[in-house]
Amino acid sequence: MSVKIASIYPTLLGTYGDGGNVAALTHLATLHGIAVEVTEVSPGHTVPHDADIYVLGGGEDTAQSAAAAALHASGALAEGVKNGASVLAICAGYQILGHTFLDAEGKPSAGLALLDVTTDRLDTRAVGELLAQPSEFAPAGLTEVFTGYENHGGHTHLGPDAKPLATVTHGVGNGDGTEGAISGRVIGTYLHGPCLVRNPRIAERLLGWAVGRDLDHIVEAEVEALRQERLDFVTKK
Ligand code: GLN
Repeated sequence: MSVKIASIYPTLLGTYGDGGNVAALTHLATLHGIAVEVTEVSPGHTVPHDADIYVLGGGEDTAQSAAAAALHASGALAEGVKNGASVLAICAGYQILGHTFLDAEGKPSAGLALLDVTTDRLDTRAVGELLAQPSEFAPAGLTEVFTGYENHGGHTHLGPDAKPLATVTHGVGNGDGTEGAISGRVIGTYLHGPCLVRNPRIAERLLGWAVGRDLDHIVEAEVEALRQERLDFVTKK
C-alpha cells in the first residue's frame, strides 16, 4: 500500500521552489522504505478526495485567487481532511486554508476555512530568512528551530481553533511573533525553502501520520549542513 500525496496546482502554487516539498516527501519515504504515489493536480483537473497528504505551495496574489476558486469548486480538500488526511500549505496555500485573505485589489476573498485564521496585510512586505522555534502545539518530536525563507504581504491572525506552529526568532512569520498554524493534521506556514528540505522532521511527521507509526529521524549530512549554514547565516547578521 502506498502513501498518496496530492500536489495541488503546482503551476499556480509553487513559488520559491515549493515543489521541492513533494520531492522531499518522496525522497524521505524512499529512505524509510515507504512507497508513495504522487498525483500532480493541474487547475481544471480533479483533486483527489482520498490522498493521505495534500501539499500546497505559495503563489502570487492572482494565482492564489485562481487556486482558491478552483479548490472551492472542488470540495475535495475538505473531504480529504475530514477523512484524516494531512495538509502542508505554504504561504499563499496557507492563506487559502483560512477564512479570508486579500486578493490583488485588497478585497477579502473566501478561503476554505480549514484553519481558523484570517489574513490581511502587513504594513511592510516580509522578505528574508525566517527562523522559528516550534511551539508546544507543533507535532510531537519537533523541537529543532525551523528555518526557511519568507516573502509575503499577508498578516495572518489566528482564531482560537488554530494554534501557532512556532514562535518567530528571526523574521516576521504571521506578523504577531508567531509563525504558521496547526489544527489537527492541517499545517500552514510561511516557511519556503523548500520547507521540508530544510525541516525534514516535518516531512517525517507527515509520512508517519500517513502510515500510522512514528518514523525514526534519518539524519542526512547534507541536510544538517544546509540547516547549520542557514542558522549561521542569520545569526551572523
Ligand atoms: N500573495 C501572498 C502574499 O503576498 C502569498 C505570497 C507567497 O505565497 N509567497 O501574502
